[in-house]
Amino acid sequence: MAVAAPLSYSSYRTYLECPLRWKYLYIDRLPEAPRGYFTFGRVVHSVLEELLRPLVVPAARKAGESETQRTLDDWQGKERAAPPPPMSRADLLAAYDRAWLSDGYGSAEEEARYRSLGRDLLGKYYDQLEVEHPRPVSVEEHLEARWDGIPIHGYIDRIDRTPDGGLEVVDYKTSRELSADDALESEQLSIYQVLVESNYAEPVESLTLYHLRSLTPLRVPARPRDALVTLYDKMGTVADGIRAQAYEPTPGRHCSRCDFRSMCPEFRTVPTSDAVRLRELVDRFDQLRNTQERVDSELREVAEQLHHAAEELGVHRLAGTSATAVRRREEAWQYALESLRPTLEASGLAGRLPTGRPEEVRRLVRDPSVDPELRRRVAETGARRVKWYWELEDGAGGSGRAR
Ligand code: SF4
Repeated sequence: MAVAAPLSYSSYRTYLECPLRWKYLYIDRLPEAPRGYFTFGRVVHSVLEELLRPLVVPAARKAGESETQRTLDDWQGKERAAPPPPMSRADLLAAYDRAWLSDGYGSAEEEARYRSLGRDLLGKYYDQLEVEHPRPVSVEEHLEARWDGIPIHGYIDRIDRTPDGGLEVVDYKTSRELSADDALESEQLSIYQVLVESNYAEPVESLTLYHLRSLTPLRVPARPRDALVTLYDKMGTVADGIRAQAYEPTPGRHCSRCDFRSMCPEFRTVPTSDAVRLRELVDRFDQLRNTQERVDSELREVAEQLHHAAEELGVHRLAGTSATAVRRREEAWQYALESLRPTLEASGLAGRLPTGRPEEVRRLVRDPSVDPELRRRVAETGARRVKWYWELEDGAGGSGRAR
């Protein structure tokens, strides 16, 4: 049921972009065509998991109802005597060859290019491990949490222990370009921070997008709690939309990469059997709209001429052969209270004019308990706006508004 389904970063982003596409993916569970760059990312992630899993030393978790917390010392003392030997470089590349998938590449050349990129990138990453000495407490871990009532989940590429005993969330990126701003603004990292903080006993100290192509960890401090409020509100809006089953299509540039165009109401083609009849209806609608705009514009012009004539002659009724045009008046008062706001606030009267509507102002102006000088100043901000319009009276007594 959509109501209870926890939101991942990608499902949240998908809903924000297009609720209907979200429905196709997460409710109807329609498959998407594989794409080479996603397949590539998955393969690289899985090999990195294999490489780093032997280095994992679990950290203390927040105790649930039926579990007791363990500490790193407990774990090291009782369950782990020495770390297992690391995977060799040759083993790593062999694992890469085993994990390779050909799904979604546009051509054999494209696949070969990606495959070589991955080999190169993993080889360099292997050498870099000697320098970085990561201390993972988990790799590719699935975490769930309730973020103040919103169920969320995610697979975290890596959680490391920092030198200060805290935690660092690491997300690998195989994309071409990445900057420090990406790490600062990443909503994905923010969600991961909430997930880790909800499940682990130690605080999250830093968040890192690891750019694999350049072996650059783009590391930023963990977000302060108040910096997460906007994201929480956006996720709450998404969760509310899903709960209300609001799945309207939101077309945009992203439609070009959507696999569901053929079934989407924005792009679905009309069956041939209905096409001719509906084409005629649309053409007729278009003609009528054009006629309506022309008539509206002409009506405004004629009403304007009648108004000038009535002003000049000082009359309100003008006879035609089939009807009489009668000039009517609509008036409204408007008060410009901005300059008096400080005075009204100082005298405790601002609360009586929450919207500044004429009725509120008039009530105040008539109130004998209010200082007469202030009432006079409020009244003087008022201006009367008059709007004229025409009605037609015909022989049968019918009438209609023209302006
Ligand atoms: S084609 Fe565009 S509007 Fe339609 S479901 Fe896909 S993303 Fe949404």
